[in-house]
Amino acid sequence: MGSVLSVNAQRLVADLEALGQIGRVAAGGLSRTSFSATDTEARNWYFERCAEAGLTVVVDGLGNLIVSSPDVVPETTDRPAVWSGSHIDTVPNGGQFDGALGAIAALECLRRIHEEGIVLERPVRSIVYTDEEGSYAHLLGSSALARGYSLAELEAMNGRDGDRFVDAFTAAGGNLDAATRTKIDPATLHATVELHIEQGPTLENLGHEIGVVTGIVGLGGGSVTFRGRADHAGTTPMLGRKDALVAAGALVVAFPDLAARIGDGAVITSGVISVEPGSANVIPELVHVTVDFRHPDANQLAALEAEIRGAARAIADQYGVDVSIDLEPSIPPAPLNQGIQDLIAAAAAARGLSSSCLPSGAGHDSQNMATLAPTGMIFVPSIDGRSHCPQENTSWIDVENGANVLLDTLIQLAGS
Ligand SMILES: [Zn+2]
Repeated sequence: MGSVLSVNAQRLVADLEALGQIGRVAAGGLSRTSFSATDTEARNWYFERCAEAGLTVVVDGLGNLIVSSPDVVPETTDRPAVWSGSHIDTVPNGGQFDGALGAIAALECLRRIHEEGIVLERPVRSIVYTDEEGSYAHLLGSSALARGYSLAELEAMNGRDGDRFVDAFTAAGGNLDAATRTKIDPATLHATVELHIEQGPTLENLGHEIGVVTGIVGLGGGSVTFRGRADHAGTTPMLGRKDALVAAGALVVAFPDLAARIGDGAVITSGVISVEPGSANVIPELVHVTVDFRHPDANQLAALEAEIRGAARAIADQYGVDVSIDLEPSIPPAPLNQGIQDLIAAAAAARGLSSSCLPSGAGHDSQNMATLAPTGMIFVPSIDGRSHCPQENTSWIDVENGANVLLDTLIQLAGS
């Protein structure tokens, strides 16, 4: 490879530490939910880093940040670009690396390419996607790039706290008309790559340094509702009851077996169960169970849904209650580009780093970008697999390794 360009690890770490102080809360984590004062502070900090490095930031109609370096070769300006980035918003009391790692590493790659005056065939851009964590809409910024939002959709959008998107957006200086004009022409994109923490334990358990992400899981969801009969908790014998909660409990207990029947990568979760009439001495009549199910393969995702439906019906029969099932696949799986997976694996090998292929169980902006251009993702290990909490952590050496593999991949894609 000759002399290998690497990131400035000290600067990368210093930036992640500085960004990791913005929005720090008493509970120990970071709260930079989209369009909040701390999110604005983080974005302003990012603008300063770009200005300091002599880079230009374009802000699109929904606040996505698209960063360019002054062109070394002017005729490459209009060629399809290679994008890399992630997000700097967080969940409430979240961690320091989710999103921030990929956003700052991409900036660092662009800084290195710029300061070394490296001539590439295509421009490289560093991106910050708006509201990845979905304070207002899941993957808001990349959805805006991939398919755009109508004014009616934006006006109907409500935040987790019940506030209206349009209020938060205009208070943060946003323009609603511009917000409906964010869809980009796929012909302007050559490829996209995102570096991210794994947010799970797989790489750490394998003892591997780099994850080559094969695809992003598809997600289905909805609810299963069991209807039994409310009766006296003391006078109704156990035999012959129509207890909707006993049926609901049986369904939830069956989740591990149902997932195991589909095999690797299948997960099922119920996060909310509501019980009516909800009285300690009345047999539950109506129980509503939320169901979230995921798999990286579209056919297997459908098979997993069929397993859940079949089990819910069988359990309803067994316990003599009625069931209504309202499940649907909501986000299709996003397979990632094989050629970019090969580049990432080769870059890791060339740097003497161990790598393995794995799917992403979490959603990422890359699943939207994959609908626009060949897209890849690089994972680095999460200590104890923790994420979306103050304990979220990744060792600095893994941060540096991941950023270097990203740099190599971007240079390959941009054509050296
Ligand atoms: Zn993230």
